[in-house]
Amino acid sequence: MTASTVSIARFDGSLESIGRAIELCGGFEKLNTADRVLVKPNITFSGWIQIPPYGMVTTSKAVEGILRMLAEHGCRNVSVGEGTVVGMVGSNTRKGFKYTGIERVTKKYGARLLDLNEEPFESRELDGVRVGISKAALDADFLINVPVLKTHPQVKASLGLKNLKGCLDSASRKRFHLKGLDHLICLLNRLLECQLTVIDGIYMLEKGADTLMGTAHRKDVIIASRDTFACDCVGATILGIEPSQVGYLKEYAETTNRPIDLGAIQVVGEDMESIKERVDCEPGTAEDLLGPVGITGLSVSPPVQRLCSGCYSNLALAVAIFSKVNSNIDLGDTRIYCGRIQVSKGTGQRIILYGDCAISENGTDEHAIKISGCPPSAMNTVLSLMKTLLPRSRILTALLLHSPKLLGLRAGLYSGSLPKWERYQPPEFDRSHFR
Ligand code: SF4
Repeated sequence: MTASTVSIARFDGSLESIGRAIELCGGFEKLNTADRVLVKPNITFSGWIQIPPYGMVTTSKAVEGILRMLAEHGCRNVSVGEGTVVGMVGSNTRKGFKYTGIERVTKKYGARLLDLNEEPFESRELDGVRVGISKAALDADFLINVPVLKTHPQVKASLGLKNLKGCLDSASRKRFHLKGLDHLICLLNRLLECQLTVIDGIYMLEKGADTLMGTAHRKDVIIASRDTFACDCVGATILGIEPSQVGYLKEYAETTNRPIDLGAIQVVGEDMESIKERVDCEPGTAEDLLGPVGITGLSVSPPVQRLCSGCYSNLALAVAIFSKVNSNIDLGDTRIYCGRIQVSKGTGQRIILYGDCAISENGTDEHAIKISGCPPSAMNTVLSLMKTLLPRSRILTALLLHSPKLLGLRAGLYSGSLPKWERYQPPEFDRSHFR
């Protein structure tokens, strides 16, 4: 076994199967009982409207498997830390900890919960870009990275190296998206090294990075290594993506003089070939969001490199809510542009510029409808879409029928669900993995 050995274990529902992946790769070989341990899951966002968690966020099962092993190892200084997107439909990390069940398992094992957004950041420079990096992550002696097995519209695969973006303050995350995501992910990982990476593949996600557009599947694998790069190469391969096609993996290999072929990586445990998939990495379209509600004539430009996840997710969520409160309507030929993108306008097409970046790139187009903000809030977007796309009579009906529901949701009086939830039924999708 070497430091780059990657293990693959079948998840059989037990915590032991998560521990097996860690043991097989020698994950705790360098762990001292006195180490300050930080476990970094991926919770992305969690607001007052619930998004299906499968394949999008780390399961509490995976976190519990790791915490149990740490307790057995004798570690007493353990924290679980994450910083979610803030503000998107009321999203914050505390809600995310609760929603995923990570709060419960963390308390059960006597570990601390850290909302990295509320903790101090240290200012560092990555190739001329000033970023704030979580001090808790920088100070950890043993950082355990727990990403999800998922695709991503901008970088193809979102795995361990990418998961560390959650250790940045929110202004720096935007800067990452606007100044070169692949490059900055590489630099961040040269600065902030993980001692262990455990990819939670109980579910995997295609057309990711979220379940608003993407589609989750049950996969039941846990992939682990002391080497995040090697772990990501195996994770990407299992998704059916050549590691060399993932920009940040390619650049990381080049800048650290490492081969990117799997032949150089020792893989132990389950046979990788037999569990390889070929998932769809292309992001979902507006049709994926609208579902079978009879809205036609609305399209969204695919995510470009220079676009923040929060911006696209807010838009996706707003379109999903818009479709929930409206049905059977033809919007002609309306296209929404988001991020730093140049509009290519078809004849007679109605254009919506979403967010300050799209507006500043195409500001001279006086006919375009503009929804400003950085990012615009989901609720403002829903209202702007209604105001600009619907006849007055329809707006009044929608407000009369749906305002109480939206207010109830907002106040936490009940939890509404998006059409996508219908797909996620037991036994394939098990809510107890997030309790
Ligand atoms: S407008 Fe959107 S894409 Fe541009 S910086 Fe703000 S959040 Fe990012």
